[in-house]
Amino acid sequence: MNRMLNILSGEMGRKASSDPTGRRCSVIGGGVVGLSVALHLLESGVDATVFERAGVGAGASGVQPGGVRQQWGTRANCLMARESSAFYSDFPSRYETVARARLERCGYVFLATEDRSLTQFQKNLVVQHEAGVPSQLLEPDEAAALIPSLNTDLVVGAAYCAEDGYFDRPQAVVEAFAEIVARQGGRIEITGVRRISRNGSSWTLNLEDGTSYNTDAVVVAAGSDSVSLLSPLGHDLPIVQEARYLFYSEHIQERLIEPLAIAVDLGFAAKHLADGRVLASDLHAAGEPDIDQGHWRRRIRDVVVDLLPVLEYVPLPIIAPGYYDMTPDGRPIVDMLDDGLWVAAGFSGHGFMVAPVVGAMIAKAFRGEECPPWTESVSASRFAAPISETEAQVI
Ligand SMILES: Cc1cc2nc3c(=O)[nH]c(=O)nc-3n(C[C@H](O)[C@H](O)[C@H](O)COP(=O)(O)OP(=O)(O)OC[C@H]3O[C@@H](n4cnc5c(N)ncnc54)[C@H](O)[C@@H]3O)c2cc1C
Repeated sequence: MNRMLNILSGEMGRKASSDPTGRRCSVIGGGVVGLSVALHLLESGVDATVFERAGVGAGASGVQPGGVRQQWGTRANCLMARESSAFYSDFPSRYETVARARLERCGYVFLATEDRSLTQFQKNLVVQHEAGVPSQLLEPDEAAALIPSLNTDLVVGAAYCAEDGYFDRPQAVVEAFAEIVARQGGRIEITGVRRISRNGSSWTLNLEDGTSYNTDAVVVAAGSDSVSLLSPLGHDLPIVQEARYLFYSEHIQERLIEPLAIAVDLGFAAKHLADGRVLASDLHAAGEPDIDQGHWRRRIRDVVVDLLPVLEYVPLPIIAPGYYDMTPDGRPIVDMLDDGLWVAAGFSGHGFMVAPVVGAMIAKAFRGEECPPWTESVSASRFAAPISETEAQVI
């Protein structure tokens, strides 16, 4: 991990030097992952072009509220999140970009209202501590010291990491990545890719504008659309779309709740964001917003009244829908599928927080360097065998 951190901190902000091999790489998808891959390739001297169908941040990256946490239940996710968290911590000083964003380490509190969840938190803590994550278990009254209106009668215990946090302007990170890509000499083409095909030792992209583009390597970072781009090439990825909905209040000046509070058994999360809006989620919301939002709102209100009464009268007029690209084990797929053909998808609701290390890992592989210890855990080939480990902390 230290080597990885050195690479992350040592090479950031460097102007791209030209790759002696003159390789050209195309990245499909202008979300936070595709842009991070392009950024890191450019910093390694690889010529990179991003092909984005709709616009920078048009997918999940433009919806996510900027959560960056290290509390995970699998070693791979802990290591990836920890390394990315280090990258994000000095993001504003590392890059001088027009779009400014700062990670606020407000902490994440996972609340258990059932004993089995507390037992799971204890197991997760062992994994987290082995990966160097400074998390801890809290008694209900200790959790209430962090979340003053918390009804401790419902809570049997909690898990907490003070280093977890939220970006004050999450979409500004995506904007900044795009700005750095352009500044480093990369291109962001707003056109979709219809098809990828082999062309001798290189690859051809057939574009929606009717043209085609030859490239030495391709990184497919198109969220769940990566599946349909890769299946004609014989690579079937087990990624499915799952709808998620965020509920927002208007701006509220008086601060109501500082850490992110997640009541896992109740399927509820709430956070007062840096910009003044309260974010609340019914993590079990399923159905159609037009038909089911009344039901989701009632469920949020029921939890709030019982658990966090400070939020009882906060209206949540805004619903932001988005999609998780889920894998069966809750870990992403970041792998070279064929010579010069990569995938970085299936981020299962945490692609924003791991995007920096994914970009750095692919750039390292291009440079022929040793990859980080979590690489095997995100391989595409792991699904050929029965699933050995599933991430328990996806929310
Ligand atoms: C409600 C919600 C809350 C979330 N909260 C968090 C959080 O707090 N923290 C966190 O880390 N993560 C969070 N996530 C997950 C995170 O948003 C995603 O994992 C991350 O944004 C994935 O980035 P990406 O670049 O892989 O995909 P996307 O952002 O979806 O980007 C894929 C891009 O590919 C483009 N594309 C697709 N097909 C083609 C094609 N054929 N040609 C060209 N372009 C194409 C799309 O237009 C899109 O812009 C959340 C997600 C949601 C929905």
